[in-house]
Amino acid sequence: MSDSIEKIKCLIIGSGPAGYTAAIYASRANMEPVLYQGEQPGGQLTTTNDVENFPGYPDGITGPEMMIQLQKQAERFGTDVRHGWVTKVDFSGDIHKVWINDEKEIHASTVIISTGASAKYLGLPSEQKYLKLGGGVSACAVCDGFFYRNQEVVIVGAGDSACEEAHYLSKLCKKVTMLVRRDEFRASKIMAERVKKTKNIEILYNTETEEVLGDGQVVTGVRVFNNQTDEKFDIPATGFFVAIGHKPNTDIFKGQIDLDETGYIINAEPGTSKTNVEGVFVSGDAADHVYRQAITAAGTGCMAALDAERYLAAKDADFEVATSTYN
Ligand code: NDP
Repeated sequence: MSDSIEKIKCLIIGSGPAGYTAAIYASRANMEPVLYQGEQPGGQLTTTNDVENFPGYPDGITGPEMMIQLQKQAERFGTDVRHGWVTKVDFSGDIHKVWINDEKEIHASTVIISTGASAKYLGLPSEQKYLKLGGGVSACAVCDGFFYRNQEVVIVGAGDSACEEAHYLSKLCKKVTMLVRRDEFRASKIMAERVKKTKNIEILYNTETEEVLGDGQVVTGVRVFNNQTDEKFDIPATGFFVAIGHKPNTDIFKGQIDLDETGYIINAEPGTSKTNVEGVFVSGDAADHVYRQAITAAGTGCMAALDAERYLAAKDADFEVATSTYN
């Protein structure tokens, strides 16, 4: 462990729209925030293509471009944006202790958790094998679709993400086969309709994955089964995309703050960003299993910074609330 402990007013963990929005507000309020970006700088939006529903962008913007702009905006007001991964926290005392990469120790008066969520996988050994090999399994069509131009791919899932990714892949690939485990989509009607109308997307309902097939190096197909008839068959494919939802990135907070049974952080006071630990606030998808949008993440990032600022002002007479924040 490092012998030099850094003491700061505000630590922001995570660099999606929630973290950067919290950073913009916290830096403008003289909280001198330090933001650790985590494993995926920019968060989930860096794996999304066009963002068309964020207010203020009439022509849309790509996810990565939006995250670059948010980072620049946070840095413009003085946020210290750093590479690094929070490996341990101790929220048992008044001062919140956080370790970065198992080495550096930070003592923060306030902590804003904006760690978001990560893609889920089916968990099949064959899926994990080709995922680790980099041989054709992906949870991000926008990141990896390019590698499958003019090829045949399979995608699993029936939510908005799966529809968005299937549609994206249909523009690059010769054929996209979509595996839907029930006889209907979970996605919004408009997203599902778009997929249904796309000529080179074939939808197989009541169909699940038994095994990802390959030659030991790369994916060559997918063995599927119809869960109504038990019929099994193989689909030739060079890419296997998984779009079945996300898991909140909250494992390091287990035992430190209250989480629900699926790992989402519980808001101690509904309508605020407060957790059950004083001085620790949450924003974005780490606490949101309902809306999960960039705009809602940004909104809760703002709330977390304002709540942290008020907390700091109440604790520390030397810290003045930037009253302009509330105007
Ligand atoms: P969802 O949880 O909405 O959907 C997950 C899908 O994966 C479901 O259809 C589910 O099936 C299926 N699934 C889960 N586990 C398995 C499995 N083991 N085998 C096969 N299929 C499985 O996740 P999304 O990531 O799609 O969306 C998350 C949130 O983000 C939603 O609120 C969505 O509306 C939003 N979103 C909005 C977008 C937009 O507006 N542009 C784009 C992307 C996401 P089943 O239905 O049977 O449970």
